[in-house]
Amino acid sequence: MKKLLLSFCLLFSFILSAQNTYLHCGKLIDTKDGKVITEMTVIVSGNKITDVKSGYINPKSKKDNIIDLKSKTVMPGLIDMHVHLEGQLNPKSYIEPFVLNDADIAFDAQGFAKSTLLAGFTTVRDLGGSGVNVSLRNAINQGKVDGPRIFTAEKSLATTGGHADPTNGFSKKLMGNPGPKEGVVNSVEDARKAVRQRYKNGADLIKITATGGVLSVAKSGQNPQFTIEEIKAICETAKDYGMHVAAHAHGDEGMQRAIIGGVKTIEHGTLMSEETMELMKKHDAYYVPTITAGKSVADKAKIKGYFPEIIVPKALAIGPKIQSTFGKAYKKGVSIAFGTDAGVYDHGDNGKEFGYMVEAGMPAIETIQSATITNAKVLEMSTEIGQIKIGFIADIVATDEDPTKNINTMENIVFVMKEGKVYKN
Ligand SMILES: [Zn+2]
Repeated sequence: MKKLLLSFCLLFSFILSAQNTYLHCGKLIDTKDGKVITEMTVIVSGNKITDVKSGYINPKSKKDNIIDLKSKTVMPGLIDMHVHLEGQLNPKSYIEPFVLNDADIAFDAQGFAKSTLLAGFTTVRDLGGSGVNVSLRNAINQGKVDGPRIFTAEKSLATTGGHADPTNGFSKKLMGNPGPKEGVVNSVEDARKAVRQRYKNGADLIKITATGGVLSVAKSGQNPQFTIEEIKAICETAKDYGMHVAAHAHGDEGMQRAIIGGVKTIEHGTLMSEETMELMKKHDAYYVPTITAGKSVADKAKIKGYFPEIIVPKALAIGPKIQSTFGKAYKKGVSIAFGTDAGVYDHGDNGKEFGYMVEAGMPAIETIQSATITNAKVLEMSTEIGQIKIGFIADIVATDEDPTKNINTMENIVFVMKEGKVYKN
């Protein structure tokens, strides 16, 4: 009894002495109702939001502090559904597999993670790397390095010669014969093994390359690369392990197989037909557009020698199409999950995507809802992130201007708090 009383006293004194932060918010975006509200106070204690009140409330205790965001627009931490934190496209990208070790990748990756966080993205899905992304996630969770909360696919799954075959385009001497362990699948059996291997390696979700891709050293950027049976086996096995599946897809046939096979998100979706848009709605799949990456590769393809020759026509043809496909899919009522493919362009520029989405016809407030409340739903974290609400994790960011009046302000996030800790003010 004495012991119990003592621990009660300790708990009580902890609550009394805990430091709270009062954020005075000139404007606050309510992502649930899609409204901008004015003059609010958000109270943060530890890593959680403990209260949201109208008006500017002053703390009762001297230990508490106030952060003045009266001239800012405050919103929940942003979520990007598609990044690659292990690298950043550059003219030497195609020799990097031969010269970089995992430790080199890790040093770069922690810088990219920090740029992402400082751009206001407090949560991301890392859709494929070598496996350093798993260690990066762990290091961030342990507070060793600064970065967003990561959900990682570890290594993407491909078929032989497919978009994420790790020895694609190598000389035959170096090609070897990668299999499910390395993320290369050629049968239903391989598909199950590859998913289970990802689980063992520490992945949170599975990424497949359902069609050809722009940046792989291969001819087609859009051919279907998995059989429907292989995709079904991947999705069923992933489900057993509590993981969802994201599918890279440019071509329509591969996209349809992926949706019918049970993937949760379609990445890029460049050549999506109206029939496929209907299929997306029927199967509750989300479209992750990555317009920024499409525009960026098309621009780089115009620089002579930037890419191997085989990539140039694909980049010029596929890259610029994404924005108009996105516009059509949005109008058709396909669920849009904000994602950018950062790494294909410079990490930290993720906010450009908002402007491109608005340009294509999505209202500004909906682009922000897409990057918060919708993405929280995709990650099954709807009760923890994506809103500024009592009990939610204190992931909070702010802009100088009201993004519903000027969306480009999303490229310049001026305040970043993740789990109650301020990283930028
Ligand atoms: Zn990608």
